[in-house]
Amino acid sequence: MTETYVTGTCLCQEIQYRIALPSSDTLPKVILCHCNNCKRNTGSGFSANIVVLQSQFKYTQGTPKVYTDRSDKGPAVLREFCPSCGTPLSSRTDDGSDDVAVKSGTLSEEDRARCSELGMEIFHHRKDGWIRGMEDVDVPRRNGSMAS
Ligand SMILES: [Zn+2]
Ligand SMILES: [Zn+2]
Repeated sequence: MTETYVTGTCLCQEIQYRIALPSSDTLPKVILCHCNNCKRNTGSGFSANIVVLQSQFKYTQGTPKVYTDRSDKGPAVLREFCPSCGTPLSSRTDDGSDDVAVKSGTLSEEDRARCSELGMEIFHHRKDGWIRGMEDVDVPRRNGSMAS
């Protein structure tokens, strides 16, 4: 089977990973999660993920730390992150599921551009107000930083 790869890394580049995809497959689409724990974990309004099989996902450099995120209902979520820079890298449930959600912001720039189609939004009822209709609100939009 011919495979194609997408790669990614954390902010400090200590941790690197590779995802092997059958070249016949279409590239994974981005899934946004609006749950409260993803907001806290990412420090943002939602998490953006691509979901692949655990057997396709492999760390090629470094070892992430794991935080076991136990909620009142449902299985625990194992959240992996870089111990040096704190970047969230992946999450998976501990119930024997084969899936792993890889944070799409950690993909290499080239692969992030390749996996840029939105596939689904989950925990949609928790979507933050500022994200709803974001593009309809008239605010300054800049390509540089806040200060520039
Ligand atoms: Zn790092
Ligand atoms: Zn979530």
